[in-house]
Amino acid sequence: MTRVPALSTPFAGAPLEPTMIETRDLRDDDVRIDVKFAGICHSDIHQVREEWGSAIFPMVPGHEIAGIVSEVGSGVTRYQVGDRVGVGCMVDSCGECEFCKDGEEQFCAKGSVATYNGHGYDGEETKGGYSRQVVVSERFALRIPDRLELDVAAPLLCAGITTYTPLKRWNAGPGRKVAVIGLGGLGHMAVRIAAAMGAEVTVLSRTLAKKEDGMVLGASSYVATEDADVLSGLAKSFDIIVNTVSADLPMDTYLRLLRPLGVLVNVGLPSEALTLSPGSLIGGSRVLAGSNIGGIPATQEMLDFCAEHGIGAQVETIEANAVNEAYDRVVAGDVRYRFVIDTATITAD
Ligand SMILES: [Zn+2]
Ligand SMILES: [Zn+2]
Repeated sequence: MTRVPALSTPFAGAPLEPTMIETRDLRDDDVRIDVKFAGICHSDIHQVREEWGSAIFPMVPGHEIAGIVSEVGSGVTRYQVGDRVGVGCMVDSCGECEFCKDGEEQFCAKGSVATYNGHGYDGEETKGGYSRQVVVSERFALRIPDRLELDVAAPLLCAGITTYTPLKRWNAGPGRKVAVIGLGGLGHMAVRIAAAMGAEVTVLSRTLAKKEDGMVLGASSYVATEDADVLSGLAKSFDIIVNTVSADLPMDTYLRLLRPLGVLVNVGLPSEALTLSPGSLIGGSRVLAGSNIGGIPATQEMLDFCAEHGIGAQVETIEANAVNEAYDRVVAGDVRYRFVIDTATITAD
């Protein structure tokens, strides 16, 4: 075992604090990664505060991990010491079920292993990327292309793949009109990726406060949803709407913005059940959908796509001692658009 400094929370809702944790000895297929940057995903906050059901403490969050391979197991073939790699929301899956064989490990029949707040198949509790090092199977390490800096690449491992997957599945591209609800961590990636795919992108945000940012990120229009008249004027405008917000939205209002055969895909996770009139779907043969991250092959494809198009996340880099304040700012929507922790600043005795 190797002891490394990490940011850990001892019990639900407690602040994160520096502490020493143990990382496992390398198995044959493991790589040890010197974490350089770890993104702060809103779901980290939900889990640290135990807002998504019972969680495992002490907890080291973090599933937007970018770093450098520092050691490889004896059977590792894909990576060498010095390689630039990332780790996202999963660190293991059975590898044998139909979903794993299709590269859709997030749907593994045995249950994929969460990067943190989970148990490995050996029963060990998993610990995430707010740490100086992580040890994972090479099968769950992604190659970060040289063209992507590690700080802006880290959030791609969750926010990037979460938005890339539905945009690809529903054919965002030239001639297609995409609307993105909410310009936060997920939303700003959805705008960049949809624009890079060649789609015409509209941001639907509560106010125009971030309009300038939205246009720079690649949107061609930006609409304040608090203005009901403007919104109803957009009826039947979009082929794809990506809903990134976790607030409870009036589904019928947004479904009416879809062209016939259009899709509204949810990646935000509201706390309340959605209510809608089936007529809003049937009228235009519309689709209401959801999307959950993406498999390992798709995650690599997304990283390569982002490198090719020169897009990463827009980040605000913080030191470890600012992480609790950053959590409060994420909850308040006060970040443009992703915090990443410079993990070199995590020190513990
Ligand atoms: Zn996440
Ligand atoms: Zn499986």
